[in-house]
Amino acid sequence: MSSSFRALVVRESDEGISSSIEDLTDDDLPDGDVTVDIEYSSLNYKDGMALGGRNRIIRSFPMVPGVDFTGTVAASDDDRWAPGDPVILTGWGVGERHWGGYSERQRTRADWLVRRPEGLSAKAAMGIGTAGLTAMLCLIELEAGGVRPDSGPVVVTGAAGGVGSVAVSLLAAHGYEVVAVTGRDEQRPYLESLGASRCLGRAEMSQPPRPLETETWAGAVDTVGSTMLARVLAQTAYDGVVAACGLAGGVDLPTTVMPFILRGVRLQGVDSVMIPVERRQAAWERLAAELPSEQLDEMAQIVPLSELPARAESILQGQVRGRVVVDPHR
Ligand code: NDP
Repeated sequence: MSSSFRALVVRESDEGISSSIEDLTDDDLPDGDVTVDIEYSSLNYKDGMALGGRNRIIRSFPMVPGVDFTGTVAASDDDRWAPGDPVILTGWGVGERHWGGYSERQRTRADWLVRRPEGLSAKAAMGIGTAGLTAMLCLIELEAGGVRPDSGPVVVTGAAGGVGSVAVSLLAAHGYEVVAVTGRDEQRPYLESLGASRCLGRAEMSQPPRPLETETWAGAVDTVGSTMLARVLAQTAYDGVVAACGLAGGVDLPTTVMPFILRGVRLQGVDSVMIPVERRQAAWERLAAELPSEQLDEMAQIVPLSELPARAESILQGQVRGRVVVDPHR
């Protein structure tokens, strides 16, 4: 085992929370049955909240944030994993209750790992990350609800963000007509390059809706919540499915029952944190096979640990485009 490695550590004091890059050793790592040499982590909205000290995302200090990572197994006390195995970890409270990915090395639980699919590089895996996994879980829910490419347009809200970008790309790759909602007009060409057939402005979609509006969407991937989700529901066509996974615009949902009782609209919640490992593995296999790799390159940028505090602020401001991959070795 190597002597020391770098990690971003968040500590709490009377003045609040602060983060700094520290040198740690294996003795500092938490208990667990698998030690992973991390290649990449990523920045998700929840990491932004953790680093920004918002919503009490971090539940114990000191904390190494980072809700996901990928790397190779360095040591394992569990039969399922052997040194050299490529693994991915997302969710399970990692980066919140348990130490996470903003480190060159981490110790974790064998039960929480999935195998990185063959052909998916470490960089691509974290280009996808928790956000991309969540987008795939949304697609799976739309499919399970019977929304097919010929059912009609699918709307994606918060489209230029991480979940939104992957959702646009995945849906378009499957032949869906994708309409992207964005608050950033300058990102329209980017969204069209990912496969959006057209874009709608955030302001327009944030207006409080009437209980029912013109049936427009066969399905939806909503990362925003609040009034925008209510508007999407009011515009969803008969038998449509809305996959709700995010709260970038707020946690409330000012809707009525009308879309549900008059149009049979289904509102499907999507959670990536606690879903069983078999469903994660299946979703990752699909991501490796179905997400266009050139678009993944376009939506991902790589940053060192030292840039994370600034990027965390940007993601909370809705200013990050696509995905931010974190290289803990830089
Ligand atoms: P990002 O910040 O990358 O994307 C969010 C996007 O939402 C922004 O880029 C912006 O898109 C839009 N947005 C931001 N603020 C507002 C606002 N006030 N009103 C309307 N739109 C807004 O975050 P992620 O993609 O990583 O995450 C998106 C959401 O999904 C978050 O709420 C996150 O917590 C949640 N999430 C949930 C998971 C789950 O398991 N359920 C897993 C991962 C994420 P644009 O500029 O295009 O309008």
